Amino acid sequence: MIIVLRSGAAPQEIEEVVRRLKKLGFGVHISQGTERTIIGAIGDERGVNLEEKIGVLPFVERVIPILTPYKLTSREFREQDTVVRVNDVEIGPGKFVIIAGPCAVESETQVMETAFRVKEAGGKILRGGAFKPRTSPYSFQGLGEEGLKLLARARELTGLPIVTEALGIEELPMVAEYADMIQIGARNMQNFRLLEAVGKLRKPVLLKRGMMNTIDEMLMSAEYILAQGNYQVVLCERGIRTFEPATRNTLDLSCIPLVKKKSHLPILVDPSHGTGRSDLVHPMCLAALAVGADGLLVEVHPNPVEALSDGPQSISPDQFFSLVRDLRRFAPLVGREI
Ligand code: PEP
Ligand code: MN
Repeated sequence: MIIVLRSGAAPQEIEEVVRRLKKLGFGVHISQGTERTIIGAIGDERGVNLEEKIGVLPFVERVIPILTPYKLTSREFREQDTVVRVNDVEIGPGKFVIIAGPCAVESETQVMETAFRVKEAGGKILRGGAFKPRTSPYSFQGLGEEGLKLLARARELTGLPIVTEALGIEELPMVAEYADMIQIGARNMQNFRLLEAVGKLRKPVLLKRGMMNTIDEMLMSAEYILAQGNYQVVLCERGIRTFEPATRNTLDLSCIPLVKKKSHLPILVDPSHGTGRSDLVHPMCLAALAVGADGLLVEVHPNPVEALSDGPQSISPDQFFSLVRDLRRFAPLVGREI
């Protein structure tokens, strides 16, 4: 249920609603809009008539059931777009934030060179995996903590915040110690214990859509994080599995405007995993900007042919440079700043 208060409700009135809801056993989430305050009551509604218990208060305008299985993630709960802050970088309306870097951190020279080139071209956040979810156990698994240290060093030298993936609950505290934003990968999108664990942290989360998950499932996964009190979640469309073998995945760009209707959370596009082909990255990035994405997650490697993971979908720093140059030409047309 959401409880919409009359505009200008006083703090003690908000407090009164919160007190009553808590007494009834509900979890309480407050969304402070510019016009009015909305209170989300999360919990078992069976046998409780909130209309009767809360709706009668004079400063309550309406008590509305949220029909979707996700609540805090829904547009109904929060009308305005959420802005997620990763250090001094804002992801949200009016911005088009480019996150770029190698699939995996491989060496000091590889990550430093990429970081400097990404920054120079206009990338705002550095990506790089230290723990890699590889399909084969014999493929390069990432440098682990050594990789996290290299990322932290790259941040120190360039000032770029870093995003990196946590594969499991065990390594989450270590990843959180180094990362400015924690990535939950496609394969872990429904690892509910991991989602709850990042929900308990107060760090922004980049939640990637599972390759076999629906849009609503992605929003319910986000709900797991928000329900723990962490509202700093950015979604990411990274392609879904279809019958088409010409691309690694099928990049579902229609999901962007649809997610914007259903949710207030920002959403990025990852054209690298979305297509699996470096030659398709540039056009799909332009398309992502056109359909209303809040930014990109792009794999950039100083020497893609030599990459230890995802070389065929990684673009070179030079290609990244021309990509950002082209995006900058189009961004003002859709009211976004790079
Ligand atoms: C990645 O971003 O490197 C990655 C492993 O992505 P995904 O989880 O979308 O496959
Ligand atoms: Mn990758």
